[in-house]
Amino acid sequence: MKYDILVVGAGPAGLSFARSLKDSGLNILIIEKSSMDDLRNPAPDGREIALTHLSVQLMQELDAWQRIPAESISPIGEAKVLNGNSPYFLDFDSKNVAGDALGYLVPNYLIRKALFEEVEPLTNVQIVTDTVVESLGTNSQGGVVKLENGETREATLIVAADSRFSVTRREMGISASMTDFAKTAIVCRMEHDLPHEQVAYECFHYGRTLAILPMAGNLSSIVITVHNELAEQISNMSEKQFNLDIQQRFGNQLGEMRLVGERFSYPLIAVHANKFFANRFALIGDAAVGMHPVTAHGFNLGLRGQATLAREIVRSVSRGEDIGTRRVLAKYERQHMRVTKPMYWGTNGIVGLFTDERPPAKVLRNIALRIANNLPPIKRIIKNRLTEISPTR
Ligand SMILES: Cc1cc2nc3c(=O)[nH]c(=O)nc-3n(C[C@H](O)[C@H](O)[C@H](O)COP(=O)(O)OP(=O)(O)OC[C@H]3O[C@@H](n4cnc5c(N)ncnc54)[C@H](O)[C@@H]3O)c2cc1C
Repeated sequence: MKYDILVVGAGPAGLSFARSLKDSGLNILIIEKSSMDDLRNPAPDGREIALTHLSVQLMQELDAWQRIPAESISPIGEAKVLNGNSPYFLDFDSKNVAGDALGYLVPNYLIRKALFEEVEPLTNVQIVTDTVVESLGTNSQGGVVKLENGETREATLIVAADSRFSVTRREMGISASMTDFAKTAIVCRMEHDLPHEQVAYECFHYGRTLAILPMAGNLSSIVITVHNELAEQISNMSEKQFNLDIQQRFGNQLGEMRLVGERFSYPLIAVHANKFFANRFALIGDAAVGMHPVTAHGFNLGLRGQATLAREIVRSVSRGEDIGTRRVLAKYERQHMRVTKPMYWGTNGIVGLFTDERPPAKVLRNIALRIANNLPPIKRIIKNRLTEISPTR
């Protein structure tokens, strides 16, 4: 059987894309490495995802937002950015913003669960798990993928949502700009005695960064970014030592802090594909753009990109056209690159400056925060970009 679309990867990007095509009349096959049980009940992975206003709207349109328990959604009321040892901070508030929130923090595993619950019952989507796409090739009519067990599957269009380390992207000859920051993000949850008042902190301390993001209750998501050689040491600290270390680095602002659950580590490698499509092949999610988490935009871009591609595909179906043509895919690429490139290079620029510890850079870091704080038009642009309060789609 030849499918209309074969999606590689049932992560949040692959699942949301399949769900966006619910009423398209297209036959979709998803191939996923992990098990059906893992998709149905994804385990917590330490990632708490800050969703923008646009993302919430897109998740609502997919009926997935409604599936996330309200008590697990935490509004971000204010965000403060600090530099080095200085108490000065750049501040973004949520005045005049819908819902009095800059964005919403939601555990990644609940996003995955909600999307899977939406996709599993769809009659036009089939999910094959416990196998990987090993290789693929395309011609003028479509593509063929070879699975680990030697079987093959055919489709008119192949869509890769197989992570920032996408094997299919390489196989299809799409190059990518890649930055290995040689750093690791250690993420975990901590409870604390004092309330966070829904304030998110990004502290660009010297030698490491510390983000403290407000979750529901007296709970915060902690993201520590350090050089790789320090990461293991921090992950292996005794709980008591770790608690005290974070509490002190945050100036005891949240009172006593205690680790809840595991510490998870993620290597920080950012990737931007130089093209988002090839013959009968398209990239979405992290396979297209894998962001450094400091601006919290990876999944936000992924969600937006899959919606753009799905919209172009649905348009071509309604015109009775072939869904896998260069015209359809190039339109997706044009629209999505316009969004991803400034965010990707802007984020890498921020990381570059705010992790540069040479004396002139330290001065520039201070100046940058003051400029952003004191020039309302600049502040507004940054805020709109980061929160996607009123983006053009
Ligand atoms: C610490 C951290 C914090 C983050 N915080 C935020 C945030 O606040 N806001 C935000 O928007 N984003 C954030 N992100 C980014 C976000 O988590 C990712 O952008 C998102 O998970 C990417 O989804 P995806 O579906 O593209 O890829 P993935 O989640 O990587 O999923 C890829 C899927 O493909 C499968 N797969 C891979 N290869 C194959 C193959 N060959 N065959 C079959 N299946 C395959 C995998 O098993 C997996 O299920 C953060 C990331 C990290 C690491």
